[in-house]
Amino acid sequence: MATINDNYLKLKAGYLFPEIARRVNAFAETNANAKVIRLGIGDVTEPLPEACRTAMIKAVEDMGNRDDFKGYGPEQGYAWLREKIAKHDFQSRGCDVDASEIFISDGSKCDCGNILDIFGNNNTIAVTDPVYPVYVDTNVMAGHTGDVNEKGEYGGLVYLPISADNNFTAEIPSQKVDLIYLCFPNNPTGATASKEHLKAWVDYARSNGSIIFFDAAYEAFISDPDIPHSIYEIEGARDCAIEFRSFSKNAGFTGTRCALTVVPKTLTGSSADGSSVEIWKLWNRRQSTKFNGVSYIVQRGAEAVYSEEGKAQTKALIDFYMENAKIIREKLTEAGISVYGGVNAPYVWVKTPNSLSSWDFFDKLLHTCNVVGTPGSGFGAAGEGYFRISAFNSRANVEEAMKRITEKFPIT
Ligand SMILES: *Cc1c(COP(=O)(O)O)cnc(C)c1O
Repeated sequence: MATINDNYLKLKAGYLFPEIARRVNAFAETNANAKVIRLGIGDVTEPLPEACRTAMIKAVEDMGNRDDFKGYGPEQGYAWLREKIAKHDFQSRGCDVDASEIFISDGSKCDCGNILDIFGNNNTIAVTDPVYPVYVDTNVMAGHTGDVNEKGEYGGLVYLPISADNNFTAEIPSQKVDLIYLCFPNNPTGATASKEHLKAWVDYARSNGSIIFFDAAYEAFISDPDIPHSIYEIEGARDCAIEFRSFSKNAGFTGTRCALTVVPKTLTGSSADGSSVEIWKLWNRRQSTKFNGVSYIVQRGAEAVYSEEGKAQTKALIDFYMENAKIIREKLTEAGISVYGGVNAPYVWVKTPNSLSSWDFFDKLLHTCNVVGTPGSGFGAAGEGYFRISAFNSRANVEEAMKRITEKFPIT
């Protein structure tokens, strides 16, 4: 009989979101009239910017006439999109990133998982706790971990705890790790990293021969001018970091699908015989072999993000979500709840009141306010005692949810 990849059996059963759905459904069955508001989702809610839609409609027309029709595009993405990204997202901020180092893809989630294809199986891997679960689960699937314990921690991974005590930025490890996942602005905590913090990581990585996987999916939500948007704003990062970016959160492309990964040509790793190998070449080979590029229509939509109208419209989208985040922060604070994040990120990370567990707070919020959020413990053992509230929602829903909470709290 055909055998399977046994590593999949090590994965915790998809627990978090199914369990949320189970509790919400059970509540809705006995409370048919309750209008439940979901602030748990990590998906955008507002329509695509007009500039992107117009560009995609035009691209569909291109596909309808023989002269402009496009078949397979370059696996790495069209040069006109890569050049705009290099100029507007990186060079404008002083980052030394060339268009040829940018790989267009259909999502950061897949890139974060696929990147493991080009790395060895004996690397020591560090993740923060709590963390975006994709980083952990893709390593489990690739056989880079042992089994999971009752707290949800996998053997063989190095967990770097983040909490209010360290401003939700991990201490630099005392041991040597080979691959490090960092996500700033952070999902789920909404925390950001200063230049000094990122510099400490870059220095660590360079002196240990480590590579940083830097997930900047939320960089567009940064409003504080001192906070870096890219790891390449830090000197030396070209020699130790890969950056993942996405159009999902800044331009509402979660259902349209377009993202990018930056692999500097100066980045190297070690082969089994100890020689130094360019990572760019491996990723280029991986993408040209296993990927056939993002649709022309979608890439034209992404390109429009960099037009004058596109910039104004994406900024308006971000301002809209960040106003939601501000309302959430203010109202929860008014209700006597401690909040973090939500200033340069669309997530507010809440300390559960009265030392409630993440799930007890979830139940209280659901039953007393009919509001749904995400229990922090679902993002890792050190997320216990915290709760994520997302700013991705309509203004009316955010206002109504906060009204219910301020009226019902403090709860005992
Ligand atoms: C939403 C999100 C992404 C983007 O994923 P896509 O596949 O591009 O939609 C990447 N990283 C994190 C942490 C996210 O929350």
